Order: sequence, then structure tokens, then C-alpha cells
Amino acid sequence: MKTIYWTVDKNVDDVRNYPQVKEAAELLTNNEVVAFPTETVYGLGANACSNEATAKIFVAKGRPSDNPLIVHIADQQQLKQLVEQIPNQAEKLMTAFWPGPLTIIFKKKQGMLADNVTAGLDTVAIRVPDHPLALRLIRESQLPLAAPSANCSGKPSPTSAKHVLDDLNGKVAGILDGGETGVGVESTVVDCTTDIPVILRPGGITKEELEAVVGEVTLDPALKNANEQPKSPGMKYKHYAPNAPMILLDGSREWLQQQIDQERAQGKKVGLLTTEEATTFYKADVILPCGNRADLTTIAHSLYDVLRAFNEADVDIIFSEVFPYEGVGLAIMNRLEKAASHQWRKQKES
Ligand code: AMP
Ligand code: MG
Repeated sequence: MKTIYWTVDKNVDDVRNYPQVKEAAELLTNNEVVAFPTETVYGLGANACSNEATAKIFVAKGRPSDNPLIVHIADQQQLKQLVEQIPNQAEKLMTAFWPGPLTIIFKKKQGMLADNVTAGLDTVAIRVPDHPLALRLIRESQLPLAAPSANCSGKPSPTSAKHVLDDLNGKVAGILDGGETGVGVESTVVDCTTDIPVILRPGGITKEELEAVVGEVTLDPALKNANEQPKSPGMKYKHYAPNAPMILLDGSREWLQQQIDQERAQGKKVGLLTTEEATTFYKADVILPCGNRADLTTIAHSLYDVLRAFNEADVDIIFSEVFPYEGVGLAIMNRLEKAASHQWRKQKES
């Protein structure tokens, strides 16, 4: 398949972009799949009401069929057509965070969505993205768009159209290039079908921000213990993985340098994920700064680009610094732990 590539002006919603967006929307109404930017990562969109269309997402990504998709809508009017009820807590969260990086799980209305969007569950995950191009595309197509991240399953999510092209060229009908995404990690997924909302996947909106709006919010136990069965099917899969094995290092800079030196002494090409303020301290084969430790949102923004860059640098092993499990740090550490398949080295144990 020849993939159409449209370049559109970043973050503007005006006539300069309309012809490209219109063409992309036409493909979507014809049940084709199109990648588009959101404020979190690039999404791979398809008509959420068509099994034929959404099946193409699973094929293009190589996504396991039991992993349901997030449905992207433009406003709350569209929501009422898709869900059975809107609980109070969900209402408050939508008012506070939509459009934005918050996905809410609702009881689904029967017979509206393609079966493979919800993978056999009686619930559906929905959000309103905070990106003018994404919103224009949804409105233009007049469809709810099922859209997982636009990467090959298991790989780091795409934060630029180049990442999408690297993974999906020739496998999707089109890619709408609207520049780099902002937040850099995916949306927070919160289940509002229970009395107390439960975070199933940490993301762009923090637990602290949610609690400021609805009071108590809990974490799915699987987020704290890798042996628990997660409530969100997608969370059980290996994810975000660079090609080389990755190990998380928890210790002083001097101790980290010792770990690097040991591997290099065995002839390995060692990559290090660190932050801007520490790069000059270390000696390794490939040192990639990922944002600034003083502001965790900068780390989230760059994380996937850095994980992908290690593939291009062709390292044998990647070491990564670790970050506090607070604010967006919770999402960052969730992604890093998965990227590293939970492999840690801790100074105090050595
Ligand atoms: P992705 O679109 O690749 O960022 O992943 C979407 C995430 O939302 C995955 O972890 C899915 O398992 C999760 N998800 C989607 N729909 C549901 C649902 N109905 N219940 C629980 N988790 C869901
Ligand atoms: Mg994904």
C-alpha cells in the first residue's frame, strides 16, 4: 500500500490545513486507517463503528486482538451516543480535563461500536484530545475515531511523524504530519465505573491532579506489583522496548559509572539515558540526555524519542537513570520499567 504523507502546519486550525485534513477524513469515512498527531503521542485512527476499519489497525500495528482501543471524540455530544451512563465522577473529570490527556472508562452502549474496539468488554475507553488537528479530523469525518498509538506493537510510542513513518510506512493509508507532540507519554486511563475512580494506566494527567477534582483515586494493584493481573488488558504486554536490553540503575552517579565501566570492559557498546544536567559527568559510548530532572514534564516529552534513538545508535546495552514516582514521574517510571522488562540494579543490594 502507498502511504499518503501530508505535512500540515503545526498546531493551527485554519484554512491552510483544511484540504489535507479533508483528504484524510475521506479515507477514514472509507474505512481506511490514518495516523494523526494528538497532544500526547501520534494516534492511528479508524472509524470506531466499523469492524472492517478497526481490524486494519490491529493488522498494521501487529496488535494483540484482546487489547481494546481508545475512542477519540470531539465533544460531549458524541459521548452520549456511545455510553450507557455518565457517572458523577466522570462528569467532574471531563469538565476539568477535557480536552486533554485523560481517558475515561465508561459502560458502553450496546450496538454502537465495532466489537474489536472493546475486545469483548462491556466497557469503552474514551477521550477528547487537546490538539486542533485531531479535533478537526474527528469533526470533518463525523466519526468517533478508535486510535491506539501509531507504532508497531511493543515499540516506543511515536512522538513525531518520522517515528510513525519508520514503523508503519506502506501499512497505513495516510500520515498527517503536524510536528512533534507535546506531552510525550500517553493519556492517563481512569476507570469511572466504580465508586472510587481507579487509574489503570498512569499518563499525562497526574494522580494528584485527579484527586484535586474528585477526592480519593486509587491505582490498579498491577501498577505496583508486576505479578498482578492488570485490569487494562494492554498493560500486560511488553511495551516501549528499544532493541537492546535495558536496565534501570538506582544509585549514585559514581556507582552508575562503575556499572558502565564494567560492561565496557567486556567490549560492550553501552548507552546511557540520563538528563541534561548530568551528561558531562558520565563516560559511555552513547549518552542521551532526556529532558531535565528539575522538570519531569521535559523528561516525558523526550522519552520515546530517546528510546528510539538508542536503536539508531545500535548499542548492546542501555542503562537508564530512574526518577521519582510522583506527578508525571509515575507515568515515566511505568514506561521505563516496561521498556526494561523490570530489570533493575540497585546500589544498596550490590
Ligand atoms: P494505546 O491506545 O496503545 O495507548 O493503549 C490503550 C490502553 O487503554 C491499553 O492499555 C488498553 O488496554 C486500555 N483500554 C482500552 N479500552 C479499555 C477498557 N474498556 N477497559 C480497560 N482498559 C482499556
Ligand atoms: Mg500504545
